[in-house]
Amino acid sequence: MSHDVIAIDGPSASGKSTVARKVAERLGRVYVDSGALYRSIAWKAMSTGCEAGNPAGIVAALGVMNVECVVVNRAVRYRVDGYEPAAEIRTEQVSGYVSAVAAVPEVRAAVTKWLRGMTKFGPLVMEGRDIGTVVFPDARAKFYLDASPEERARRRSVELAAPGGQADVTRVMSALADRDRRDRGRKTAPLAVAGDARVIDTTGLGIDQVVEAILYRVSEVTACL
Ligand code: C5P
Repeated sequence: MSHDVIAIDGPSASGKSTVARKVAERLGRVYVDSGALYRSIAWKAMSTGCEAGNPAGIVAALGVMNVECVVVNRAVRYRVDGYEPAAEIRTEQVSGYVSAVAAVPEVRAAVTKWLRGMTKFGPLVMEGRDIGTVVFPDARAKFYLDASPEERARRRSVELAAPGGQADVTRVMSALADRDRRDRGRKTAPLAVAGDARVIDTTGLGIDQVVEAILYRVSEVTACL
């Protein structure tokens, strides 16, 4: 059975979040940011003092976490032990730590189960690294967004910059490259292009152009059902 999921994968800062949110809005689907779930778990494990190089400690921390997934305004949000972390999961420290947490097979198994369970919320647009390859290999439509390293670093620097300031693009590019290398190189569910995904290079494209390309492809796939 084909799940009613639109899967959008790709490396860090490839434009997935903004695009996926807009596609979900346009199609009246529930938006799922799977990276935010990994980040929330990483944030909690980090705040208990667990080292990134200690997978057994990470598994133990996950074992005592109470993770809730709730829909608010047609987007899934995460609460850990009754608290919904927001800005806390976007810090440089969590970004540096999360890929080690996401490489732990027990963490991936738990998160994959939670993500699959979200079909109960209705038709989804889910973004991440392994949505089309592992979480929903039979998703209705799959996309892989990419952009040049320079463009991704430029976008992320703009997001990170304080108002009126400018983040260091070279440092951001190197942090993104490190995280992508870990995400591509891990043994369990590495970042990869699904064989049946539509690859979109977003370098030089505006958000609306990418959204329209995805909507067009979704309408083609739906017409064939
Ligand atoms: O998408 P975002 O950059 O917030 O994801 C943070 C991290 O979570 C990624 O670098 C990756 O290590 C992990 N992740 C993953 N699989 C997903 C989504 C995110 O491993 N489906």
